[in-house]
Amino acid sequence: MKTIITGDRPTGRMHLGHYFGSIQNRVKMQYDYDTYILIADVQALTDNFDNPDKVRKSVHELALDYLASGIDPKHSHIYIQSLIPEVAELTVYFSNLVTVSRLYRNPTTKHEANQKADKFGESGESITYGFLGYPVSQAADIIALDGDIVPVGEDQVPHIEQTREIARKFNSIYGETLKEPEAVLSETPRIKGLDGNEKMGKSLGNAIYLADSEEEITKKVMSAVTDPSKIKKDDPANPDICMVYYYHKLLKNSNLDTVCSECKAGSRGCVACKKELIKVMTEFLGPLQERRKYYEEHPEEVEQILKEGTMAARIRAQEVMKRVRKSMKLDYFEE
Ligand code: ATP
Ligand code: MG
Repeated sequence: MKTIITGDRPTGRMHLGHYFGSIQNRVKMQYDYDTYILIADVQALTDNFDNPDKVRKSVHELALDYLASGIDPKHSHIYIQSLIPEVAELTVYFSNLVTVSRLYRNPTTKHEANQKADKFGESGESITYGFLGYPVSQAADIIALDGDIVPVGEDQVPHIEQTREIARKFNSIYGETLKEPEAVLSETPRIKGLDGNEKMGKSLGNAIYLADSEEEITKKVMSAVTDPSKIKKDDPANPDICMVYYYHKLLKNSNLDTVCSECKAGSRGCVACKKELIKVMTEFLGPLQERRKYYEEHPEEVEQILKEGTMAARIRAQEVMKRVRKSMKLDYFEE
């Protein structure tokens, strides 16, 4: 079985963008791959170092969202990054193999630093060593577990390219030691927001969280963007530019053809259409929220799942680090 390494930064709760963008895919893949799902708390600290409470709380929320979404601890190891000291060690060794200018050129790092100008300065002049270097620690996350495959979105491709470069450089200096992981681009498109934004995102204020109550969902759906040319209830409209229709489609409303034809014919008002979407969405999220509730009521089970997942990841990392230390001639006192 090939090994998948994937994960998220604990910086908040998961939303439908995460679900359709990555989690759903992991749920499917976990039966065919040895799956390791990383809760990247160390990486979350690179831009939240001044808010440890948020990171700590989000670790728990993330674990609940995974389990709610159908990540099955019998098939996936969910683990906490900071509890794998071998990854921190490998990051240090890797840091010699990457130039600072190469890190500055990483387009995703650049883009993210620009978005965080309040922290890192308008032109990145206050960028930290930790933030600039997080693609290096990400490389260590993947390589320390002998990962074969990393399912990623477009934005992560530059990081995996950097991971592969590091593995090649390591092998060329110290001898064939490390596996070169492969990025598999997930074919799911970027999920749009109900507000018409090209992306649903936490910081864009347009996220529908997996744990949202019916009340919250209602409020969000009722303010969704529809075809602006439709003024009256019985005006015909174009579903292709309506975010409500987009979500009917995304959530696989079994009544989709009717929604489409009635919208085009003008025999369906937007309010009724939104109400139907609220129903479809709460029905979709229902089973997830039921599982979430179970785990919320059994925190000791969640803790056990995280402990076991972390233990499994650590054992793999220890094996890899034995090879690394031997190749680097750091295997002091070992037989
Ligand atoms: P923020 O607004 O704080 O950046 P976010 O909502 O974008 O938060 P992230 O934690 O940045 O969430 O997302 C992590 C990963 O989740 C992304 O790299 C991407 O793969 C996936 N993801 C997030 N939002 C979407 C979306 N709308 N559609 C598809 N995938 C998404
Ligand atoms: Mg983001």
